[in-house]
Amino acid sequence: MDANKLARPGVLDIAPYQPGKSVESVERELGISNIIKLASNENPMGPSAKVKEAIAKAAEDISRYPDGNGERLKQDLANLHHVAAEQITLGNGSNDVLELIVRVFAKDGDEVIFAEYAFIVYALATMAVGATKVVVPAVGYGHDLAAMAAAVTDNTRLVFIANPNNPTGTWNSAQSIQNFMQHIRADVFVIVDEAYFEYVDEAEYASALDLLSTYPNLVVTRTFSKIYGLAALRVGYSISSPEIANLMNRVRQPFNVNSLAQAAAQAALKDKDYVLQSRAVNAAEMGKLNKSFVALGCEPIPSVGNFVSVNIGPNAQPVFESMLQQGVIVRPVAGYGLPDHLRITVGLPDENERMMDALQTALKATA
Ligand SMILES: *Cc1c(COP(=O)(O)O)cnc(C)c1O
Repeated sequence: MDANKLARPGVLDIAPYQPGKSVESVERELGISNIIKLASNENPMGPSAKVKEAIAKAAEDISRYPDGNGERLKQDLANLHHVAAEQITLGNGSNDVLELIVRVFAKDGDEVIFAEYAFIVYALATMAVGATKVVVPAVGYGHDLAAMAAAVTDNTRLVFIANPNNPTGTWNSAQSIQNFMQHIRADVFVIVDEAYFEYVDEAEYASALDLLSTYPNLVVTRTFSKIYGLAALRVGYSISSPEIANLMNRVRQPFNVNSLAQAAAQAALKDKDYVLQSRAVNAAEMGKLNKSFVALGCEPIPSVGNFVSVNIGPNAQPVFESMLQQGVIVRPVAGYGLPDHLRITVGLPDENERMMDALQTALKATA
């Protein structure tokens, strides 16, 4: 028996997702300590005190299954977004929700459109169901929405738009998303992934949620992994028509969001100061970092998120390894077609200083 021959089409073509290296694995592999991780776009402030309290309280009940429908969290999210609770779908991270959408709508022979340099999960989810990836070349490093609209065929079932995108930090204006939706058939579903929504401070940027009542084929996804600081707990959600949410509810796992995650997410929504402070720290540090990168002769891709991909040149991989040796974990993005770039998460001020020193040393060592 050859299990490989029996796997469904597409599975063997998938390169497993490569997460950013963990502090523990680098400690183990290199035998060094005092490591900082700026590799996975996590909130460097750590979880809010209110969240930690909520988790401790919820921990008393972990022998019970969680609320399988996430009623209270869904209601809080419905209130926040001024939609009905029936429009919310919770997921084990927004990654889960992205996969649910693909599993509901895409099958062998269907086409799924996304942009060059787009978040890699769209490709993984598409291949896992045997559907066909249609990758539309970027303009600069960003999504070319006109070209993406033009790529729609009779076989197109889904289009993914990351706004902002990871790993490029590029974004599309509210107007351009609206224009895009006007050109898309009603039987093509458009997913706008807004994982970094809370960080964006551009006047012409807006959530696609504003378009939801006009376009029932629109799905917007959000996460608690980034500005809310809950990456380890895995909780995200989508907002869609009740009909789409109902379909996703049929294919999800019965208890896909655990009780600690639900309690933490509810507490995180209440802690508005934490979000404001996170955004302020990020904005201030992003400005400093960009200047420092340019001073070192490395061009950053202008980013509206909490990370920045920097053009290091052909030595990006050795520079990454040298920084690792110095105890600073950043993220190579060759897998995204950006072999000369490293993606660096904006950390706390002292972390960023250490990262810059390590980068400078690495650049000299590899020159
Ligand atoms: C981090 C990220 C997500 C969210 O991941 P979770 O599964 O919610 O942790 C989704 N989309 C993009 C573009 C991301 O960068």
